[in-house]
Amino acid sequence: MESSGSAEAPGLGPRVLVVGGGIAGLGLAQRLCRHPAFSHLRVLEATARAGGRIRSERSFGGVVEVGAHWIHGPSQGNPVFQLAAKYGLLGEKELSEENQLVETGGHVGLPSVSYTSSGRTVTFELVAEMASLFYGLIDQMREFQHAAHTPVPSVGEYLKKEVSRHMACWTENEETKKLKLAVLNTFFNVECCVSGTHSMDLLALAPFGEYTVLPGLDCTFPRGYQGLTNCMVASLPKDTIVFNKPVKTIHWNGSFQEATSPGQTFPVSVECEDGAFFPAHHVVVTVPLGFLKERLDTFFEPPLPAEKAEAIRKIGFGTNNKIFLEFEEPFWEPGCQHIQVVWEDTSPLEDAAPEPQAAWFKKLIGFFVLPSFESVHVLCGFIAGLESEFMETLSDEEVLLSLTQVLRGVTGNPQLPAPRSMLRSCWHSAPYTRGSYSYVAVGSTGDDIDLLAQPLPADSKEAQLQVLFAGEATHRTFYSTTHGALLSGWREADRLIALQDSQAQLRGPRL
Ligand SMILES: Cc1cc2nc3c(=O)[nH]c(=O)nc-3n(C[C@H](O)[C@H](O)[C@H](O)COP(=O)(O)OP(=O)(O)OC[C@H]3O[C@@H](n4cnc5c(N)ncnc54)[C@H](O)[C@@H]3O)c2cc1C
Repeated sequence: MESSGSAEAPGLGPRVLVVGGGIAGLGLAQRLCRHPAFSHLRVLEATARAGGRIRSERSFGGVVEVGAHWIHGPSQGNPVFQLAAKYGLLGEKELSEENQLVETGGHVGLPSVSYTSSGRTVTFELVAEMASLFYGLIDQMREFQHAAHTPVPSVGEYLKKEVSRHMACWTENEETKKLKLAVLNTFFNVECCVSGTHSMDLLALAPFGEYTVLPGLDCTFPRGYQGLTNCMVASLPKDTIVFNKPVKTIHWNGSFQEATSPGQTFPVSVECEDGAFFPAHHVVVTVPLGFLKERLDTFFEPPLPAEKAEAIRKIGFGTNNKIFLEFEEPFWEPGCQHIQVVWEDTSPLEDAAPEPQAAWFKKLIGFFVLPSFESVHVLCGFIAGLESEFMETLSDEEVLLSLTQVLRGVTGNPQLPAPRSMLRSCWHSAPYTRGSYSYVAVGSTGDDIDLLAQPLPADSKEAQLQVLFAGEATHRTFYSTTHGALLSGWREADRLIALQDSQAQLRGPRL
């Protein structure tokens, strides 16, 4: 097979191709570029921009985050925090020692106000009591981390069993008990957003506690998350990234040649959708797990070893989307940061509607009030699961109409003016993402994540490292985060550097 790639990089040393220009691919490229042996490096990115699931857009006269929102656990152990600080992208408060020391346990803060779907305000005391029950149970599940057996397979089943047990001791009237269950249902939906899953019943119980929370009060980028990936791109040699270059198939375990390098053979050749071929010594795959799942049958030639393919099928990858609404006048109180929506007559103990389409908006957890807008007022709603994927199939007008009705119910004001405009993410329909982030699904464990991260060929005695794997879904304890993705890119860069250094040692000093 001959190369028809037009973006050949000059330089000696091994040829490395990185598939995907998200934070994992960019971090890896940055690290390799600092090493003198890796001057022959290309990042092939399917879309017209770098950053992947870090995506900030100018809108409503400010910046909104379509993808990653917070630095989770912004403290010294978080490489995204450190990099952002180095580039001067964070404010004084985010950098403060005080902020870094806060231990949140990874739980979303309590809402400023909580409304039911028919406009009743739920008291702070009742919401706090249910939050304490729910997050107490979430923390309790860590004890199953190394257990050989768990009482039930999923996080959802465990939570429901425990909620039923607690409920037996509730002494209030029936109406209050129903309201408590409805509030708990909202917390279940919040956790679906956090984990990027349709249902807590899909999350495996034993490995749930392996996800690690770093200290620090989650913070945002005042001028947008994408400022970080933009800085990373700017630090790379010009033309390292080739945009609009979707990869179709990775041919590996071969012996490929190109016309311009007669006599040289390469174990890997990357075929792009436009017909170009890029021969290489090493390819690092950083594409999202959702894309990998969809293209598993055609993305690798020869196909992946059965165990690795099975790990890709088993690890979960779900959808969490955002819906931004712009208002001329706020209907919320000054200082309100988070409006929780509690759907009356819902309960985590009852099966959700079999047709999520019918009332898709009932999966919405509420809204965060975005702070950084001067003259307009913007709310950001979160919605996960199949309902979120269904929302993506609706028109803007349909979504706006449904949410206007929801808000009129919630505020008890049938005259509430409709939002002036809206913007939403559609991560499930994005062809090179196919969802939001990964989770450890029932039937899989952290070992599957490690298996996914293993380079190929797996059975080789000599460390050839033909195909390597990075990206958030390959980090066993920080999956689903930007820092997990960045660390995974660094991990694979270090793997290649170690190989290069050991080979250089074997060759001995050059005279
Ligand atoms: C709505 C949402 C909210 C989130 N909130 C947070 C948060 O608050 N905090 C946090 O830490 N994390 C958050 N995340 C997760 C975080 O964004 C991701 O974990 C991280 O950005 C993933 O980086 P990555 O490099 O692994 O993958 P990506 O950023 O997805 O990069 C992969 C790249 O590969 C490219 N690609 C795909 N297929 C091909 C192909 N065939 N050929 C070439 N290129 C290809 C894609 O276009 C993409 O650019 C959120 C994600 C979403 C969707």
